[in-house]
Amino acid sequence: MSTDSAAGIDQDSLDLILSGVRRLVDEVLIPAEAETDQTGAVPPAIAEQIRDFGLYGLTVPADYGGLGLSVAQEVAVVFELCRASPSFRSLIGTTVGVGGKTIALDGTPEQKQRYLPSIARGETVVSFCLTEPGSGSDAAGLRTSARKDGDSWVLNGTKRFISNAPTADLFSVMARSEAGSQGSRGVSAFLVEATTPGVQVQQPWDKMGQRGAAVADVVFEDVRVPADALLGGLEGQGFRTAMKVLDGGRIHIAAVAVGLATRLLEEATAYAKDREQFGEPLAQFQLIQGMLADSETERLAARALVEAAAMRADAGTNVRREAAAAKLFATEACWRIADRAVQIHGGYGYMRDYAVERLFRDARLLRLFEGTSQIMQVVIARDMLR
Ligand SMILES: Cc1cc2nc3c(=O)[nH]c(=O)nc-3n(C[C@H](O)[C@H](O)[C@H](O)COP(=O)(O)OP(=O)(O)OC[C@H]3O[C@@H](n4cnc5c(N)ncnc54)[C@H](O)[C@@H]3O)c2cc1C
Repeated sequence: MSTDSAAGIDQDSLDLILSGVRRLVDEVLIPAEAETDQTGAVPPAIAEQIRDFGLYGLTVPADYGGLGLSVAQEVAVVFELCRASPSFRSLIGTTVGVGGKTIALDGTPEQKQRYLPSIARGETVVSFCLTEPGSGSDAAGLRTSARKDGDSWVLNGTKRFISNAPTADLFSVMARSEAGSQGSRGVSAFLVEATTPGVQVQQPWDKMGQRGAAVADVVFEDVRVPADALLGGLEGQGFRTAMKVLDGGRIHIAAVAVGLATRLLEEATAYAKDREQFGEPLAQFQLIQGMLADSETERLAARALVEAAAMRADAGTNVRREAAAAKLFATEACWRIADRAVQIHGGYGYMRDYAVERLFRDARLLRLFEGTSQIMQVVIARDMLR
């Protein structure tokens, strides 16, 4: 299954965006990382700057007021953006990624017209609701129900660990619309506005890392939505849509891992040049150089894999295997790079005063969400053996 095949923008325009993001990261986001980690929220003024920059419109087609980047261009921006804590990226993550893309890829023309322009302006934050208390990796085991009642649908169920739920204006919800169906069959996607009676966002979870990014459960209790809330106007296509946006989402998360790995290596290299032991900078010791070189090699390999998957997606080719491989390799590599960055910092790397301590915790999530590393292995092998 292909993700999408956006034409993208010209190189000069992309270069402008990339240099703007780099400035935003260096001058605004990195200086605000520690505060964001401590308070558990991105400062509102910074959230505003991210909105003003147009980042919510990253993947919205230009016809709807977005930047209309191709997948290869999207990952180039994410490489830059994620030199800062991925908490900041998470603010736009579900809207430009798995949430918003459900509409961009499979919405009806009316649904696109209704939501995409305000998504592009950063006025409609979208969350993606697939996971449930009883179904994580086994996403097809979902039990949230959607019952047809006259001209409406009535949704009941609980969605777990929903990114950006506390600030979401719109939920893209996967629910079982065919009573008694099993697995991926009989699942439809619904666009549920947050103000609909019966939608209850729970208290955010207290997380290990990416603490500026809010994640909460969402309960749907007798939530009545009109017939045109059914994504694409098609019943039984919800699981297909979910898997399609997750292919793109996995390339995106793999790009997050590359961006974060780049930053970790900047921190580790600077520290190794500065810190002296045995009368010499750490950077002079070949065992330290070995850790730096292994990390840089893995970062470059991850980047190449992400770029290859993105180009394939832009060509409209099936990327299920490549997206999973990119996520598996890049997030596992980022984790090893984070561990080495802490190791190079010695005891200081364990202290909250140092960025690598925070980034190490941030990195841990990447191997878990949008499919764990084990599920990436399952997806790759299943595709190979088909
Ligand atoms: C911070 C955060 C944000 C999230 N945001 C969202 C969101 O916005 N929307 C959303 O829908 N979901 C979201 N999720 C959910 C996330 O996608 C799931 O947590 C993830 O898919 C794993 O599901 P689980 O936690 O239930 O773990 P489980 O499925 O219970 O897995 C537990 C362990 O068993 C392993 N395992 C499971 N099945 C197999 C198998 N067949 N073979 C081998 N190993 C297996 C897993 O790899 C894992 O190691 C988020 C999660 C987190 C932590």
